[in-house]
Amino acid sequence: MSLHFLSEITGSFSQPAAENPTVAMVEAAYKEMKIDWRYINCEVPPALLADAVAGAKAMNWQGFNCSVPHKVAVIAHLDGLGESAQLIGAVNTVVKRGDDYIGENTDGKGFLQGLRQQVEPHGKSVMILGAGGAARAIAVELALAGVASITIVNRNKNRGQTLVDLLNGKTTVKAHYLSWDKTIDIPEDIDILVNSTTIGLYPHVEQEVNINSETLRAEMVVADVIPNPPKTKLLEAAQAKGCQVIDGLAMLVNQGVLGIKYWTGHDANSDVMRQTLNAIFAK
Ligand code: NDP
Repeated sequence: MSLHFLSEITGSFSQPAAENPTVAMVEAAYKEMKIDWRYINCEVPPALLADAVAGAKAMNWQGFNCSVPHKVAVIAHLDGLGESAQLIGAVNTVVKRGDDYIGENTDGKGFLQGLRQQVEPHGKSVMILGAGGAARAIAVELALAGVASITIVNRNKNRGQTLVDLLNGKTTVKAHYLSWDKTIDIPEDIDILVNSTTIGLYPHVEQEVNINSETLRAEMVVADVIPNPPKTKLLEAAQAKGCQVIDGLAMLVNQGVLGIKYWTGHDANSDVMRQTLNAIFAK
């Protein structure tokens, strides 16, 4: 009988790390796939990120996720970047390819996959609330997927305009910036509305994005990136108006499926992953 006690290792580097449920979701997927892979959630302060990456390399990790605050800083410690990670300027998934550790970004791709279950974004008009890391990832992937226009609505003008300039300069989409100093009416030509701000994230569950919810129309698809709680005030308002809605758990699951595919080469069972998260957030 041949014995084998050496698991393949993946994991996550972030700070804070304790409230990140990704480990439960990925390990449920590995178990269901019946593969001897592990995912270890690690709290890594910024000053020790280089050591953590060197440690992962020394221990032959097959890859790892990076979350707040390492998504940009990790790039300096990698051997290369995938196309959208390069455009986005941030990495959430590192993949060992041969001897190299390559940075990818699955946040926007995961979002796109969830969106495509409801609507094909090609040729559509999109409004994105926010211009931070999640917004950059989503906007770049939507642009690469051929949406017609993207309106970036952000409180901080500099950050909003920087994202608009990136989209207009590096992709074929028509992007423009809208300032967010008052309640926003959603224009009638918008097909897809995305909240990619932190508004509504636990514990600030009563916080609402400053839009006129009377201007939501049933023909719109409304998506939110907030994973906890998945039913945000925005999604509640959109549902009441008859819109199709997509919650932040869809993005979380789909980016996880893509990461597992990058690492293992195999498709994970997204239902098992979603059920694991549902059970966690039901508590
Ligand atoms: P960032 O800190 O990079 O960006 C935050 C954004 O929210 C900025 O645009 C900021 O605007 C805006 N914002 C925050 N508070 C307000 C407010 N009161 N009014 C208006 N705008 C506000 O965060 P990330 O982009 O990294 O993350 C955003 C969210 O995405 C988080 O809640 C995170 O949990 C979620 N996320 C979900 C994922 C998933 O898989 N579901 C994956 C990745 C992220 P300004 O520039 O003006 O400060």
